Amino acid sequence: MMKDVQTLYQHGTLALLVPGLFDGTITTSDLLTHGDTGIGTLAGLDGEVVIINGQAFQAAADGTVNAVTDEMTMPFASVHTFDSQLPTTPVAAMTMMAFTAWLKQFAGLKNAFAGIVLTGTFNHVHVRVAPKQVKPYPPLTTATASQPEFTRNDVTGTVIGYFAPELYAGVTVGDFHLHFISDDRQFAGHLLDFAITTGEVVTQVLPNLLLHLPTDNADFMHADIDLQGLNESINQAER
Ligand SMILES: [Zn+2]
Repeated sequence: MMKDVQTLYQHGTLALLVPGLFDGTITTSDLLTHGDTGIGTLAGLDGEVVIINGQAFQAAADGTVNAVTDEMTMPFASVHTFDSQLPTTPVAAMTMMAFTAWLKQFAGLKNAFAGIVLTGTFNHVHVRVAPKQVKPYPPLTTATASQPEFTRNDVTGTVIGYFAPELYAGVTVGDFHLHFISDDRQFAGHLLDFAITTGEVVTQVLPNLLLHLPTDNADFMHADIDLQGLNESINQAER
């Protein structure tokens, strides 16, 4: 079967996390049938997930990185199948802010989704990790009001994530949403900042969005998503 390298498969929406719908509604094994590369969070907003080469890892709020097993579930995740045919582009020394600004220009990221895979050597990496919540779940802004942050200097690793047009903010995170995992699999999280020394990036424009909603979850089916202030809450929690 031809590999589908054109589809962003997304389970759940960022908007459903805002009122605190943190139930795990897709198993990792199911998710991995839709892609080998991506990001997400575990049930209960338990940490930051990075999917690389078909393997899922969790950055936990205690700073550890753990293998995610097949039966573990997620409320929100985005994956795609990495296209190894795509060219790699060298990346000069720069900060994360400079990188995202440069990549938008270079790859023409504006109105379509794209998967980003950036491997390299980093002077400095700064991540945060969402702490696990218990039921009854609080709203996202409460859950993420205080999040452990971690830094690492002189580390090799991979940045994985997505660019999404602002139009889809709420469905997902508008603009860039990037996670990091070190080559030694000891350090990971949701990226706040980095300074790369040298590296290479693959930008995979994804024409298709396959949005999979947790229709078996009664809380999701009945929840009121408050559109007023939705993006404010998302930006507060995710930036
Ligand atoms: Zn994240």
